[in-house]
Order: sequence, then structure tokens, then C-alpha cells
Amino acid sequence: MNILIDHFTTNYNSAPFDLIQNKDFKPAILKLIEDTKKEIDAIVTNTAQPTFENTIEALEFSGQQLDRVTSIFFNLNSAETNDEIQKIAQDISPILSEFGNDITLNNDLFKKVKHVFDNKDQLNLTTEQSTLLDKKYKSFSRNGANLPEDKKQELRAIDKQLASLKLKFGENILAETNAFEMLITNQEDLSGLPEGAIEAAKQLAESKNKEGWLITLDYPSYIPFMTYADNRALRKKLSLTFGAKGFNNNDYDNQEHVLKIAKLRHQRANLLGYKTHADFVLEERMAQTPEKVTSFLNELLEKAKPAAEREFTNLQNFAKELDGIDVLEKWDSAYYSEKLKQKLFNLDDEQLKPYFKLENVIEGAFLVANKLFGLQFKKIETIDKYHEDVMTFEVLDDNNNLVSLFYADFFPRPGKRNGAWMTSFKPQYIKDGVNQRPHISNVCNFTKPTKSKPSLLTFNEVTTLFHEFGHGLHGMLANTTYPSLSGTSVYWDFVELPSQILENWCYEKDALELFAKHYQTNEVIPMDLVNKIKESATFHEGMQTLRQISFGLLDMSWHGTDPSLIEDVKAYETKAFENTNLYPEVKSNCMSTAFAHIFQGGYSSGYYSYKWAEVLDADAFEYFKEEGIFNKEVAAKFKDHVLSQGGTENPMTLYKRFRGQEPKPEALLKRAGLIK
Ligand SMILES: [Zn+2]
Repeated sequence: MNILIDHFTTNYNSAPFDLIQNKDFKPAILKLIEDTKKEIDAIVTNTAQPTFENTIEALEFSGQQLDRVTSIFFNLNSAETNDEIQKIAQDISPILSEFGNDITLNNDLFKKVKHVFDNKDQLNLTTEQSTLLDKKYKSFSRNGANLPEDKKQELRAIDKQLASLKLKFGENILAETNAFEMLITNQEDLSGLPEGAIEAAKQLAESKNKEGWLITLDYPSYIPFMTYADNRALRKKLSLTFGAKGFNNNDYDNQEHVLKIAKLRHQRANLLGYKTHADFVLEERMAQTPEKVTSFLNELLEKAKPAAEREFTNLQNFAKELDGIDVLEKWDSAYYSEKLKQKLFNLDDEQLKPYFKLENVIEGAFLVANKLFGLQFKKIETIDKYHEDVMTFEVLDDNNNLVSLFYADFFPRPGKRNGAWMTSFKPQYIKDGVNQRPHISNVCNFTKPTKSKPSLLTFNEVTTLFHEFGHGLHGMLANTTYPSLSGTSVYWDFVELPSQILENWCYEKDALELFAKHYQTNEVIPMDLVNKIKESATFHEGMQTLRQISFGLLDMSWHGTDPSLIEDVKAYETKAFENTNLYPEVKSNCMSTAFAHIFQGGYSSGYYSYKWAEVLDADAFEYFKEEGIFNKEVAAKFKDHVLSQGGTENPMTLYKRFRGQEPKPEALLKRAGLIK
């Protein structure tokens, strides 16, 4: 008897956490993989003509219980894990990825999918069906299913090389990071550092049996030192070492790897019929083409650069006045920025926290969702939880129909990974005429209450809560037929719109009045504090924007052109940075050789999406501001055309339906104070 194998008979069909035993996962998943294989075999061996229903839809709805069980399992592995769960994860992850590969490499299955795809025009499909068909077809074709056998082999060989190069790239950065440590033995050299950073440096030294204080290239050590240490020579040393990772002509040098990765990606794209790697990637993005991304970045650059240059001059003057610095260098950037920020705003978390009691902020997020979308959140105790800290809610619409279940898991504990995220235990979909409502979860790591004090959030935590809640609403309000197109299953450069737009309400007087009340006096947060928050949030926004744009342009220059003639990584990079430099060039440093986001992780041809998403959320929120931040009609449009639609259509089409036009960068530039 394994509870995971069959359809759950719990309240709301919710995950039966109280009955699940860890030892059930692996046998259940193995059994469910076998069941899914049988479902797929049935599609392949069906002797009837392939149709949308017997092939595409059947494929879409295969393996549903497997998906539920794996999502429960991996959610637990993130939020409530232990050695046993981690061990199971190591066992089943390769099995699951091999199973996934078996499907995309299944030629007989592809033939059926292709038959449906080739006859698409005669099928009279709905828009959503047509999107699903494209998506299924591309999951094969983008992996080489259309290639002749020898080219397929070539593709597999490239993939194999790329996988090991990416691994090596990451290992080298790690090795360079670990190879360096700066031992400080003179206490004066710690001048400027906050207590916590000094303590951490001391502990690190002790852990390695050393006298003094140890500074490393790991972010928790590196960032505070660069931001606060008064000793300029040590900042310089640390910065130069950090910036030279993978560029030291030693065993861990990444120059060759950068060139090889860029060239192999280009070759792979060509093999599949795309002009460049960026063309390949962007086919499945809202931005669609490299030209669009590059012109997007250049337009932003043109508008942000004057502000960035102004900020740079101000910072330069400030450093000159304060410490007689003649030439502001990269290793001065964080240090003087922080000093100037303190001088201008003198704003610290302790002033704000009393206004943001966790319960009030949650209530605030619920109220905003109520005013916009008519949602009601009712606490329920009738479903299982995986930990006693988890709160569970029934989400109802204004006719008391169930919209979703909502799990909120807000406090850190051993077994929960860092950060904040939204996830689901069950997707939304419509099958056999029944609209299956989703089970959505937000997981965060906020400060726990103590005996004497409730949980009081920093402002950053408040926006994090709204951000994840925005992703949550995208999941909760989903209303599509197919689970793989539902909720947050959208193109990657569109997924941050619902989350980022929600953060905007945290800066609005009319919204803050609802929930930002002092936990002892109930006094609403004073507006001058709110204005300070707003101003400090856009401090040095010009320079930040320029920096983000420079990384986006570097990414596009590596992936949006034919790299076969590039020989010198540094020279190539210098050219890509030509229009975005503020600080004097550092010859011994190179960004590309440690740019793990694009050479190791999944951000190749995708770095622009940080700014892209900001443009979207600012432009969309501008619409709310024009009509009122709680305007029901704008909210209804946002729900009907964006939140409920998931990935059923191209996001640009959805967006235009909501906004009446394509997004423009002006709202972002205005919000950031870069243009008037
Ligand atoms: Zn997000």
C-alpha cells in the first residue's frame, strides 16, 4: 500500500502530507514512470490516424500522477528536507531526466506529433490548442528530431561537449574563488567594517586555525569588505583578484572555455537551422529576436546614460571632497556609494520594521488581492501541512467559488533552502469538463517572532512577500485547459511581470495605509518615511541600469553573432563594453571568464530579461496609476488577459490586449528618476 500511487482522496484533493512516508517516494516514482511509459506506448501504438486528441492532448495528460508526486517531492526537498530526502533526490533525479530524454528522443512518437503539426491548418484548433501543438512539436524539433541520423549524432556530440565545458567553467571559477584568502592581522585594516562582518571574518580565520581575520572572494565576505572597508589598498587588492577569476593564465583559466562554448552553441544553432544561438533561444521568448533585444538595450542605454554620467560625476566629486580621491576606480564604487547614500538618506531598517508586522503585511497582500480581483483568503485547518509553521488558506472569488488553495511557509528552519519562491503542489487545468483548481505555495525565510516581539519585516522582506505573492496570484488565477500552459508556465522574460508589478503597491500611500501600521501604536507609516524609501530605492539607478545593460550587451555580443573568428576574449569584451564604461579600464580583469550566468547557467541570450521585466512591470503599473491603483476595470483586464491566460498565447499579444499597446521604457525611466 503506497499512498502516492493513486489519486488522493483528501480534502480538496490536497497533498496527503500526514500519510506520506519518505520511503514511499522512490517506489512510487518508479512505478509511476512505468505507468507513464505505458500511456505513451499507447499513443505510439495506436493504429488510428494521429489527431490532436489522440496524440497531443493524450501526451499532455500523460503522467499526471507522476507530475504530482515529483512536485510534492521536490517541494519538500526545497522547504523541508533531510538526509533521507536528499539521498532519494540524488537517486531519482538522473532517472527522471533520462525518462524525459527518452520521450524527446522517441522517434515514433515524434512522427505522430509531426503528422498532427504538418496538418495543423486543417484541424480547426483553438488558440490554446495551437499553442500546445507548437510547444509539443518544438520540444522535439529543438532537440534535433527533424535531423538526419548523422546530424543527430553531431548534435548529441555537441551537447556532450557543452555539458562538460560548462561544468569545467564553473569548477574553475570555484577553484579560483577558493584559492584566494586575505588574512588580516592588523586590526586597523578592519576599519569601517560593521560588527557582523568582523565577527564573521574572525570565525572564518578560527575555523582554519589562523590568527586574525580572514576575507575571501565569497559574496558574504567580499561584498561587505568592498562596501565598508576604509583601507583603499586592500579594497583594490580584493577587487583586482575578484575581477581576474578565470583570467590568470593558470590551470583554471577560462578563456578557451568561453571561446569553445560560444562557438559550439553557434554550431548547434546552425545545425538546427537558426542563424545564431540567440536566434535559437529567443524564439521561445517574448522578445523573439536578437535585433529586438539589442535595440531594446540600446534604447535604454541612450536614455539612462546621461543620468549615469551625472551620478558618476557626483560620486567622483563626493570622493574627492571626502578623501581627496582624484580618480574614482572600480574598487571605490560600492564604498563611496554607500557613504553617499548614508549621507543623503540616513535610512535604516530599524526605523521601518515596526510598521511591518508580518501578520499585517500578509493581511495587506490579501487586501490588495481582494480590492483588485475580489479574492477572499480564509484560513483553513482541514488539510495536511508538511510543517506546523505552514499556514493554509482557501481562496474564494466573490461568488464564493474555490479559486485555489494557498500555502504560506514564511520562517527559516534547518532543512529549508535560502531565499524566497513560489511553487505549486497541483497545477490548474480543465479535464472532462471539470476545472481543477491549483494548490499554490509561497516559501520565504523571514525573521521569526520571539517571546517579546512579533515578526517585524524589513522593507526588503515586505517587497519580497509581495513579489512572491504576485507569482502566487499568477498561479491561483490560472484558467486554462492544459496544465503545461497554465499559470506561471510562460516565456521566461514574461514570468516576472505579475511578481514585480505587485511590488509597486508597497510604495503607494493608499495601499500602505491598509497595512503599514506600527505594531505597538497602530499609527500608519509617516509619508516622509515612505518618500525616503522611494528615493533611496532609486539611488544610483542610472549607474545600476548602465551596468545591467552592459552585461546584457556582452551576453548578446557573445551569442547574437557568429563567434567563429573571435580569438581574443578580453579584446572582444572590451569592444562590447565600449559604450557603457564609467570607471577606468582594468587590463588584468575580465568579466566573460567568470560570467557564470551565461556560460554556465541558463541565462545565455537572456541577461536582458532583468531589465525587460522591469520595463514591463513599470509600464503595466503606469496604467494602474493613470486609472487608480485599485481600479477594478484595469485589474479585470490584467486578470483576464495576463494572469488567467498563462502561456496560451504569445505574451506580447496578451500584453497588448491588456495595455492597448506594446510596453514602452518611459515609465521605468520615470520611476527610476532617470527622465522627468
Ligand atoms: Zn520572481
